[in-house]
Amino acid sequence: MSHINQSIKCTVEQCQHHAGAQNYCSLDCITVGTHEACPTVDQCTDCLSFRVK
Ligand code: SF4
Repeated sequence: MSHINQSIKCTVEQCQHHAGAQNYCSLDCITVGTHEACPTVDQCTDCLSFRVK
């Protein structure tokens, strides 16, 4: 990944958009969503821009 977006920290190394050696996303922006009808904790939210490597 050549681009590192220092505004988006991320530790999901299995994602093809992860910046690699550094824990950032390489995209300009991401979409965050939820899989719950009524989200209550952070585990209820998802990065919808995730793509497996
Ligand atoms: S797309 Fe989402 S999961 Fe993937 S590196 Fe960026 S922030 Fe992380």
